[in-house]
Amino acid sequence: MSLELLYRDLILEHQQSPRHFGRIAEADAEAEAFNPMCGDRVHISLKIEPQEKKIVGQAFEGEGCSICMASASMMTEEIEGLNLDEVESRVESFRSLMKGERPSGELGEDILALQGVAQFPVRIKCALLAWTCLKDAIDEWRESKKSRETGESTADSKGA
Ligand code: ZN
Repeated sequence: MSLELLYRDLILEHQQSPRHFGRIAEADAEAEAFNPMCGDRVHISLKIEPQEKKIVGQAFEGEGCSICMASASMMTEEIEGLNLDEVESRVESFRSLMKGERPSGELGEDILALQGVAQFPVRIKCALLAWTCLKDAIDEWRESKKSRETGESTADSKGA
């Protein structure tokens, strides 16, 4: 089987049986993204262990083209159990892959199935949508954690 066929099968397989499809009821972080170019829509929800800043649950929901859905599904597998720094580095790696470059860091083998997308500029947005959405969810979580901590320390200094 040629690599191209293997990749196409992997993409179809993820599209047909997406991993971690759904929504986490009490998510610690979530975000939504829309790609008007293609009509893709993605919602990401995460459970994050705050001490180690580690992903302990991840889900995606949405609708769109096979590239978008497969990319989201692969992404949820990719980030399982990683800490947020590692997740952000995978996002960067995937972005470089979509620019047609060598991934800047570690990236799972399945995800390489999407590297051909880099040759089709209109589809790059489809592939990137879930990853951008993931990054938004993490950024927001970091922000709210920071403001919670600042809030707490302000309360402490008032008491002292
Ligand atoms: Zn699309």
